[in-house]
Amino acid sequence: MTDNQVCPHCHSDSLQKRGLTKAEEPKQQYACNECEKWFLVSLVEIDEGPEFLLSRSRIAELERKDRFFVTCSQNNTPVDKGFWAAIGHYLKENGSELLIPTIRYKNPTCRFDAQDDDSDVWWPDEVLPYLCESIVKIHHELWIMGNMRINATAVNPLIGLETLSQSASAIYGHNQLQMKVIPTPQNALPKQLWTTGSCSVKNYSKTKAGVKGEHHHTIAGIVVEKKGKKFHTRNVIWDGECFYDLDKKYTANGVERNQKIAALVTGDEHTLFNDPEVKAATYTNRDSITKTLKPEVIIRHDVFDSYSISHHHRHNPLTQYVKWREGVNKVEDELQITIDYIEETTPAGATNVIIASNHNDHLYRWLKEADWKLEPWNAKIFHWFWYHMLEEAGFGTAGAYTFDPFAFWAERNIDPKCQTKFLGRDESFVVNGIELSLHGDLGPNGSRGSAVNLNKIGIRSIIGHTHAPAIEKGVVQVGTSSYLRLEYTSGPSSWLQTHALVYPNGKRALVNVIEGEWRG
Ligand SMILES: [Zn+2]
Ligand SMILES: [Zn+2]
Repeated sequence: MTDNQVCPHCHSDSLQKRGLTKAEEPKQQYACNECEKWFLVSLVEIDEGPEFLLSRSRIAELERKDRFFVTCSQNNTPVDKGFWAAIGHYLKENGSELLIPTIRYKNPTCRFDAQDDDSDVWWPDEVLPYLCESIVKIHHELWIMGNMRINATAVNPLIGLETLSQSASAIYGHNQLQMKVIPTPQNALPKQLWTTGSCSVKNYSKTKAGVKGEHHHTIAGIVVEKKGKKFHTRNVIWDGECFYDLDKKYTANGVERNQKIAALVTGDEHTLFNDPEVKAATYTNRDSITKTLKPEVIIRHDVFDSYSISHHHRHNPLTQYVKWREGVNKVEDELQITIDYIEETTPAGATNVIIASNHNDHLYRWLKEADWKLEPWNAKIFHWFWYHMLEEAGFGTAGAYTFDPFAFWAERNIDPKCQTKFLGRDESFVVNGIELSLHGDLGPNGSRGSAVNLNKIGIRSIIGHTHAPAIEKGVVQVGTSSYLRLEYTSGPSSWLQTHALVYPNGKRALVNVIEGEWRG
């Protein structure tokens, strides 16, 4: 709403105000005296003030650089001083370029500047040299979309932006930190869409939309490292004192190196189909993730694939034939391979937590549904399991129960030096305020799980299961540690080899393993 408002249909400035709409974020209604058409004007979105387009030579210069820090800045709002100082240390430590897309928002009750006059749109002096309202293709497959002005209070800022960067991944400026992946048929890897989080302090109106925007506002940024043909993207989140990026901690005063992480949540492991490049990057290389970041806890989802006895193969004679010919139909062999893998990949001093997952559960399903007479090679262990399951069965407040067969077998066979905890389905496991026990297959009240419906529970968590990484408000979702193509994937895929980190301050980050490398 401005004093010099004109009709969008006939450009007349002879207008009458006709009250506010009754939406969550009300709009001013106008009627035009000339053409008699009506139109709406947002009270909070503004499209005014200076533009920050980069020159062609500046864009070309940026596109030759290898390291970037991207965050966003809201008009008429100061930066968070501590975060800003820490960004300065980050840029110096890493030789990164800073890019800051803008957010334009009108807050009539702003405590910094009541913005009576709409033409008074300003940004703090310190951000001015870095503001970017152009598209910068920092890699041919990763674009900074500075041209897009997303509404500051958008609850799902990435909605509708899936195709704007064509087949390239994209980073958009927005006060919320969000991430999702979109399948791209022409590439081996899905494209990543990110919003940045903000370097501005919170500055919202008291409407419902304003309060929700404030709730999702995150002081954060995205870091990018290019190496050869690859690029790596990660998020960093300010906690009021510091932010972590891998093994470094950045504060207003400087950089602290050789930091450890509290937990590593690996992309679903599916041992039988685990990609050796992911295993090397995560565990066994000299500069692997576990050797560099020294997690106290390693969280493993879908660690037992159950391929040897999968119910999906029951009516598939081709798969059954190949499994028989290749000798991958013996459940005891697969159990042993899985335990060997866990032992080989557990660093001394770290604790494994095995998450109850649908693939681990396929073993129980096989025990309930399979006809042991049709697979004599598994007959003995079938009966061994049943003997113990009946022996341990009980009747509790929720009815009949017995144990998780994978956990039961593994606990008896794993090297005791390899500290491992097997979580039950309803057992919680919290590290620094983050719930790590949910696999992601089960949602509230028996529904199918998803990052969106698990977010509504209102707890901060890290889940797995879909193999497509995401940051959806309070929920972070890992990808997979398996090969990107398995028997049951066909068509464009959003699978990515992505782990999550829990830092000592409880902030989380996604780390992608791109063709066997986890950083630039
Ligand atoms: Zn799963
Ligand atoms: Zn899985």
